Amino acid sequence: MERWPIGVFASVDAGLGVHLDVAQELGIPSVQVHAPHKETRTPQTAEEFLKKCADAGIMITCVFSGFEGESYADIATTARTVGLVPEETRAARLQEMKEISDFAKLLGCDAIGLHIGFVPEDTEGASYRGLLDTARDLLDHSAGNGQNVHLETGQETAEHLLAFISDVGRDNLFINFDPANMILYGTGDPIEALKQVGHLVRSVHCKDATWAPEGQRGVAWGAEVPLGEGDVGMETYLRTLADLGYTGPLTIEREIAHDRERQKADIGTAVELLTSLRDRVLG
Ligand code: MG
Repeated sequence: MERWPIGVFASVDAGLGVHLDVAQELGIPSVQVHAPHKETRTPQTAEEFLKKCADAGIMITCVFSGFEGESYADIATTARTVGLVPEETRAARLQEMKEISDFAKLLGCDAIGLHIGFVPEDTEGASYRGLLDTARDLLDHSAGNGQNVHLETGQETAEHLLAFISDVGRDNLFINFDPANMILYGTGDPIEALKQVGHLVRSVHCKDATWAPEGQRGVAWGAEVPLGEGDVGMETYLRTLADLGYTGPLTIEREIAHDRERQKADIGTAVELLTSLRDRVLG
């Protein structure tokens, strides 16, 4: 695989990502995919999707979970509904995560990703302890499928995420770094965070955002914007990834699924930006 192949977040069916045709039309050689709904998570779906990817010369680099009942409406709702943290749905979602791991194996993919949720601050509490057990259970299942698990960044500070990963204590737990999320959630400067967690980063999102106003950070969302128009600093981001020795895909995420036309246009512009920056940074 070439260094830093461009990628895009896509969907197998009606998920959060773009349709595979968009990747194909834009000549994007890799995708992360949002796992399909339970009903379509079948060997037949996997086989058909794999064939489409093979015909288009597209490689699947990571399969991301998503669960019924999750809402990113605002930060408080996200904390209450997303990932494996909410205790009412934890057991059922763990089971579903294992099924997604099995589906990813059918796609021949060696990495699954997720927003685990807002990891509790109280590391002595029952919720945190339970989350450690849940994570270990998932990691052991994924290891059986030959897979790593990538935690999406943003909901924790870099320090808290590192401490959690260390407490879980499994060697197939890594990070999908999303610089825009650090800004959107107000959890820290993305470049400083990347330097801190870089040794565990195995996949990345290329997404941009502007900070919420002072005093609102961590309470109100920042704003997701087209790549290169936000506060991440794309060239600095790529230079930092180069310094860390990261060679994996640069997966574009543009989370405006309500406006598919604009989403596709913005992704096209992002491909051009990343391609020119990649040439400049890698020389
Ligand atoms: Mg992301």
